[in-house]
Amino acid sequence: MSETLIRNADVVVTMNDQRAEIARGDVHIRDGVILSVGTGLHAPGAEVIDAGGCVVTPGLVNTHHHLYQTLTRAVPGGQDALLFGWLKTLYPIWAKFGPEEMFTSAQVGLAELALSGCTMTSDHLYLYPNGARLDDTIAAAEEVGLRFHPTRGAMSIGESAGGLPPDSLVEREPKILDDMIRVVDRFHDPRPGAMVRVGLAPCSPFSVSRDLMRDAALLARDKRVMLHTHLAENEEDIAYSLAQFGCRPGQYAEDLGWTGADVWHAHCVKLDSSEIELFGRSLTGIAHCPCSNCRLGSGIAPVRQMRDAGVKVGLGVDGSASNDAGNLVAEARMAMLLQRVARGADAMSAREALEIATLGGARVLGREDLGQLVPGKRADLAIWDLRGIEAAGSWDPVAALLLCGPTRVRDLIVEGRQVVRAGQIVTLDLPRLLERQRHLAQRLAG
Ligand SMILES: [Zn+2]
Repeated sequence: MSETLIRNADVVVTMNDQRAEIARGDVHIRDGVILSVGTGLHAPGAEVIDAGGCVVTPGLVNTHHHLYQTLTRAVPGGQDALLFGWLKTLYPIWAKFGPEEMFTSAQVGLAELALSGCTMTSDHLYLYPNGARLDDTIAAAEEVGLRFHPTRGAMSIGESAGGLPPDSLVEREPKILDDMIRVVDRFHDPRPGAMVRVGLAPCSPFSVSRDLMRDAALLARDKRVMLHTHLAENEEDIAYSLAQFGCRPGQYAEDLGWTGADVWHAHCVKLDSSEIELFGRSLTGIAHCPCSNCRLGSGIAPVRQMRDAGVKVGLGVDGSASNDAGNLVAEARMAMLLQRVARGADAMSAREALEIATLGGARVLGREDLGQLVPGKRADLAIWDLRGIEAAGSWDPVAALLLCGPTRVRDLIVEGRQVVRAGQIVTLDLPRLLERQRHLAQRLAG
């Protein structure tokens, strides 16, 4: 039995249904589950973590990533390109990846997320060159200790068939479906507290066929797993949909079974009001990726309208070739700022952005057991030290978390286990990992 008492936090942000914040708060954890939250708690025999000067929040949830891209950051030809040009620069480099690149890049991305307060992340892996498998990233996450929702992505329409990716990076659709079945049967855990849940994720409407979109949706319903893809990312994406399918992305998604509480779409920058209404009504989720949208010049996603229409919204750092940082708390700050750029200073508060980053993400990924510091929920939480220079002089520690900083956690706990302690990852040897990553990046740049 493992037991931990986090005590004396300046504020515990519970994200409970009343959004209660507890001053001088304690959190008592046993065997990966939150036992109680309050003040003056006693837990004889428990490990004690003193959180004086800190804010404790639910762990942040990342709903969209391509972890493998940590090996292709700031690639010269892709630095200033729009989405389609950016992809065409990077595809030939990604074609050189294999299992080692997938494993190492995933560990780097996961460690980076952990240090930024993230306890659970999804990943969208849609290319499998040279023997790479989804298994490589799952092994990486197991070692780092984050809760992981990998998705079996896919591309099947190569250049010769009118798609965007080179033929060498696409797979045959029957083989894709077979591997989707394999990874779900092998790794998906539907139980509360699951550390791994698998989703199905054809890459985007412009890289797979209509048939594969439909078949993946049928398979996901049969296996009771979630569906994920990129949708309505920018104007090029909308134009492609209108030209190829004769409809907007929202209708394409609905026609093929890609709406519902078990579906979440990345970006959705260009959804119109009827598509937003459709997503709200059908409980379809969104992974909002503000930094990536800025980086690729895609636009500002209408998150204010989405939230007002009841759409479930979570945050995503997106792949590290289009951000190129994987700092989730910085992403929450950017989400807040971008809505203000679009709609004024009262468009989104720091507290609402924090809610999207925690509870919002958990809801998007279908995790009722996470996202709130409430008795009975799983013990995923982040401890933020507000005594550093970034937040010095701040009057409201919870708002300061996004209006000022810090951008790294002091401690991170996942399923009751410590992943970050005193600002350091404790589950792996980070300097050695970074050395391996440098070596691989140099080999790719060759
Ligand atoms: Zn993406």
